[in-house]
Amino acid sequence: MAEIVRFAPSPTGNIHIGNARTALINWLVAVKSGGEFILRYDDTDQERSKQEYADGIAVDLDWLGIKPTRVEKQSARMAAYDEVAQKLKDMGRLYPCYETADELDRKRKRQRARGLPPVYDRAALKLSDEEKAAFEAEGRTPHWRFLLDQETVAWQDGVRGEQSIECSSVSDPVLIRGDGTYLYTLPSVIDDIEMGVTMVIRGDDHVTNTAVQIQLFNLLNGKAPKFAHHNLLTSATGEGLSKRLGSLSLRSMREEGYEALSVAIFAVVIGTSDPVQPLADMGALAELFALEKVSRNASKFDMADLVHLNARILHETELEAVSERLSALGIEADEAFWLAIRGNIEKLTEAKDWWAIARDGLLDDAVQKNAEDADFYAKAKELLPAEPWDGTTWKSWTTAVKNATGRKGKGLFMPLRVALTGRSHGPELAAFLPILGSQRTLDRLS
Ligand code: GLU
Repeated sequence: MAEIVRFAPSPTGNIHIGNARTALINWLVAVKSGGEFILRYDDTDQERSKQEYADGIAVDLDWLGIKPTRVEKQSARMAAYDEVAQKLKDMGRLYPCYETADELDRKRKRQRARGLPPVYDRAALKLSDEEKAAFEAEGRTPHWRFLLDQETVAWQDGVRGEQSIECSSVSDPVLIRGDGTYLYTLPSVIDDIEMGVTMVIRGDDHVTNTAVQIQLFNLLNGKAPKFAHHNLLTSATGEGLSKRLGSLSLRSMREEGYEALSVAIFAVVIGTSDPVQPLADMGALAELFALEKVSRNASKFDMADLVHLNARILHETELEAVSERLSALGIEADEAFWLAIRGNIEKLTEAKDWWAIARDGLLDDAVQKNAEDADFYAKAKELLPAEPWDGTTWKSWTTAVKNATGRKGKGLFMPLRVALTGRSHGPELAAFLPILGSQRTLDRLS
């Protein structure tokens, strides 16, 4: 069945790899089913929502390869929400409450002290018109709660299987704040109905909301969409991601030079039954992915694994796929350069170092030549073949140096590598030597 899905971020910050997981899983389900992907900004919180974050999210999704078929924002749809809210008030399912945050807090403490669950006691339902008027005269404006049916709400979750929630243990949720703004709960349901969303896929921190929203769907539309709640990602030490944004934001990953494909594979595949592995493209990821493979437990992830995957992908990437980004880094790479260095970088930005080494000179942190090797270097210089050079030059040169000096293995190759590159690890020198050329090689041996 062609699924209509949506990714519904609040544009209150940069999105991170955990949000990317939600977006990508929705995208893959849309692609696999030949359906649609709606990008919907949950921006009812006007104070915290910012256009620059909304724009940034669009750029991040585009980078990952996600192309929304439709873009919506809740702030443009207030009239629709007001209409439904009025309907719920008329039905007696949305009721005004006047408690302050402090009063609610004290109520919960008293309940806990008596061994009761801290569920809202519905005291506001019993207020008379005079009492409400008195609160308003005091300057209090009401927030509005949804009167839940105290039933068991059950659904077949696309990831978690059979789920059920006892609504008598859930507080009637606040749908409208004291300042008149909507929390995302009701607008989300109204939008999902109007936009024909067939499956809601989101993090499992929303499982309780789902029971509430299924009641709203049934009330407003007679039926609810399918739901799937994926597990959340946590840092290696088990913390949630929201507090640790910084380096985990997609934007910073892009700026640091990660491949979009590695980030996409990593964000989706960790926490599933598949191993993290290089894949050719998003199509291959779509082929691999299935909701049923997603684990029900939170998934710890380690940036080192992403770096490793990124490196494996780069090692097989063709020049054509990266040449524009290399140009943006100031690298006008040809095939020979790229093939020589791609196996020695973990992120594309590291190509800058090799470009500088190949063209300009050794880097500031270069490993120094050993003074005791002076004679060896003099001999190597003397035996350096004249250009033109090709892939066989290294072999014929080092064979000659070996015969003349009696050195072999590491004792032969390491001093040459250090002199030519300033590093003790790096590209195959057979490939790198022709890029360096005779003049630079002679200079560096001196
Ligand atoms: N704005 C909500 C969030 O980012 C959306 C949840 C949903 O997908 O329904 O958590």
